Amino acid sequence: MAETTQLPESEALQVLHRVFGYDAFRGEQGDIIETVVAGADALVLMPTGGGKSLCYQIPALVRSGVGVVISPLIALMQDQVDALTALGVRAGFLNSTQDFEQRREVERAFLAGELDLLYLAPERLRVEATVRLLDQGKISLFAIDEAHCVSQWGHDFRPDYLMLSELHERWPEVPRIALTATATEATHREIATRLNLTDAKHFVASFDRPNIQYRIVGKDNPQRQLLDLLRTEHAGDAGIVYCLSRNSVEKTAAFLTQNGIEALPYHAGLDSRTRAANQARFLREDGLVVVATIAFGMGIDKPDVRFVAHLDLPKSVEGYYQETGRAGRDGLPSTAWLAYGLQDVVQQRKMIDTSEGDAAHRRRLGTHLDAMLALCETVECRRAQLLAYFGQHGEPCGNCDTCLTPPESWDGTIPAQKLLSTVYRLQHERNQKFGAGQVIDILLGKQTPKVSQFRHDELTVFGIGTELKDTEWRGVVRQLLAQRLLAVEGDYGTLVLTADSAEVLGRRRDVMMRREPERVSRSRSSSSS
Ligand code: ADP
Ligand code: ZN
Repeated sequence: MAETTQLPESEALQVLHRVFGYDAFRGEQGDIIETVVAGADALVLMPTGGGKSLCYQIPALVRSGVGVVISPLIALMQDQVDALTALGVRAGFLNSTQDFEQRREVERAFLAGELDLLYLAPERLRVEATVRLLDQGKISLFAIDEAHCVSQWGHDFRPDYLMLSELHERWPEVPRIALTATATEATHREIATRLNLTDAKHFVASFDRPNIQYRIVGKDNPQRQLLDLLRTEHAGDAGIVYCLSRNSVEKTAAFLTQNGIEALPYHAGLDSRTRAANQARFLREDGLVVVATIAFGMGIDKPDVRFVAHLDLPKSVEGYYQETGRAGRDGLPSTAWLAYGLQDVVQQRKMIDTSEGDAAHRRRLGTHLDAMLALCETVECRRAQLLAYFGQHGEPCGNCDTCLTPPESWDGTIPAQKLLSTVYRLQHERNQKFGAGQVIDILLGKQTPKVSQFRHDELTVFGIGTELKDTEWRGVVRQLLAQRLLAVEGDYGTLVLTADSAEVLGRRRDVMMRREPERVSRSRSSSSS
């Protein structure tokens, strides 16, 4: 071998080896770290598991002074500080969970220059005493974690983040690095503007998580479907199951446990001790399942989560991406599985219609829901569609349900017309609005008590839709909703026409639909249910 006349290792690389024990930087870590070490601002978009923490931890160790990390994840600060302490990094945090003595000790260490990293909850900066404290110490950098929280368009807005624009005015010479694992192009721009990161260098990693297999199935008996999945493909694996309500969290956890799969509940209604204990067990033990509301998992660093299952429709694509992103951080094959049905759409519409906030806010929520629906009903590659949502390009991936078993698409124009004209007739001939169940009963010509009561058997559309089954009609409704040719409103999830419905009714537009695949259960033993 030729004599090596290598450049001396950069200080950042030395810290990577010596402190963290890793061989090399991953992806753009090296460039990002170099930028911040040099004192410039950076905006980092990197998926979960990409390695964002080192991007500010190493510069904080290389530059002189204390790296101040703003994070909304108060519950995780202790863990983060413990992990760093174990590596010999001097770290502390200030948040509302501490008593006066604990806080005072951290403040003392900060002022004495005995800290490398200080984690702060954003609301701390509203306290004048905190700002005065920071003024008296030496700050090496500001890291703004979960930077998408500054965006009102995003799915996780936190008003306290808006104040972070003032960091630059107050400490103009301190470099800032903002990081997030989820941002559409609009959110990306908004982060840059709101945080005054005008001269920042942008680092946008690919949001693709190739080891995650995305699958979205129609919901019929979700707990059974979930059990099937776990038994056939994920026996003994650790995983997270998300439900929207506390009640369904409890029920699902109990159901899995009764069926031999140990599952722990996690939701905001449990006392904090139980929550912490369940989370700790999930992190420590192998093969546990946590059934949780979305409150679970923010920033959780468990590398071997093999599956993330959703039993209810997430409220936004960003949320879905972030939650599914907790699977497979170790790069090994993992499953993101979602079961969704018409009822999800009805329920979420209702939540949006009754939510607090102004019309603009409700419109935003509606836009998020529409994008999520479009992902569910797509006949294209799920991954390509997910990436497109984040402004990135992807080829058909071969590792999602639509790539693996391409759904047939069919010309659903005529069924769409039949369904829309039923809604139209109810609305205009009878001045009535009904939910999907009644509309479908009319199409199928079912003589139910409710049909008789409202004399719906006298409508000309009664019984004109017998070519499809009930479940197929439900699929038609979902797809019309996803294509915004139909809308759902009010407490009872009544169906109403949209501005675009007329194009279908007037035969100016064809409607392509995806054929509902027959549900193939992969279990060998046939279950009787
Ligand atoms: P993120 O915050 O982007 O979700 P983390 O910073 O938690 O990701 O990193 C994810 C995992 O990857 C962690 O276990 C971390 O220790 C590991 N990791 C990060 N950078 C490297 C690297 N350069 N080499 C090896 N492992 C790394
Ligand atoms: Zn695909």
